[in-house]
Amino acid sequence: MIAQTKKNSHLPKLLVFLIITVCSLICMLVISAGTVLLLASAAGPAIIREYTKNIVSLPIESFPLEKVPESLPESLPESLPVSPTPVVNLTAPAAQANGTVRLPVLIYHQIAAIPPNIAPDYYVTPEVFNAQMQFLKDSGYRTLTPDQFYDIIRSGKNPTEKVILITLDDGFANNYQNAFPILRKYGFTATFALITDRMGIRSSQVKEMVAAGMVIASHTKSHGDLSKMTEDQLRTELADSKTILESVSGKKVDTIIYPGCAYNSNVVKIAQQSGYKMGFTCGGKIDNKPGAYFAWNRIHIYDNLENFKARLVGIANYPY
Ligand SMILES: [Zn+2]
Repeated sequence: MIAQTKKNSHLPKLLVFLIITVCSLICMLVISAGTVLLLASAAGPAIIREYTKNIVSLPIESFPLEKVPESLPESLPESLPVSPTPVVNLTAPAAQANGTVRLPVLIYHQIAAIPPNIAPDYYVTPEVFNAQMQFLKDSGYRTLTPDQFYDIIRSGKNPTEKVILITLDDGFANNYQNAFPILRKYGFTATFALITDRMGIRSSQVKEMVAAGMVIASHTKSHGDLSKMTEDQLRTELADSKTILESVSGKKVDTIIYPGCAYNSNVVKIAQQSGYKMGFTCGGKIDNKPGAYFAWNRIHIYDNLENFKARLVGIANYPY
């Protein structure tokens, strides 16, 4: 009986001990959580700002060719040259000027996924490129080499069949990896404008492409602005790149594609003296004058199949 009473007298002490322990644990948890929240709110924005800064600055360095924006626009994506609403009316092609020959020349650059925060102008995804080539095939188009293009334009008459010249500028590795297999799939040929100082496509790959019917054009040695160069610089850019590319490809290189589409009469003179037969700029038109064979027009192609159809018939629904 005495023992029983003693045992029961310990109970309140035990309860008090348990309550104090539980309260202490809860207090510790609350203090810890508060500290973490306080640190996160103070340091968080700084970390996010630093992280975002790094992400935004990356694409500038990874996109060094062709009309690269000097700095990224203030707001994205509103300020990018987003494609306007297409006006697709294949029954009403653009009017053709007198004295011209109608034959489209397409310009592509990167055939790859469009990186985030990059103006999409110089990218066509492999999926859309495939869809565009499929459309050409289904529409009955046949692709030309620059020499075949030259003969048709110089004849002064519109071709009687659907023909087209496809060009890819800058020689990115993805031109070999992504564009080349798709072109082969449809039995098409294309002209690859390579920069000899920075060849994204390796020499062995160039040989493989040429063996499969692809054509190599010069896009100069350094991809500088030809319209601002001295005659000596022009000779180096035009003649040296021609010699190197003929050595790599094992074929005559008679086509010059002006970097950034910039040229003048001096550029044309040195190009002719260096042994080129024809030169291409941008121009944005599908019609060409037979006499302007060092200033032929090309149309820039974007990552969009419906606009592609409009561009093929000369409807200019893009800024360039
Ligand atoms: Zn270029």
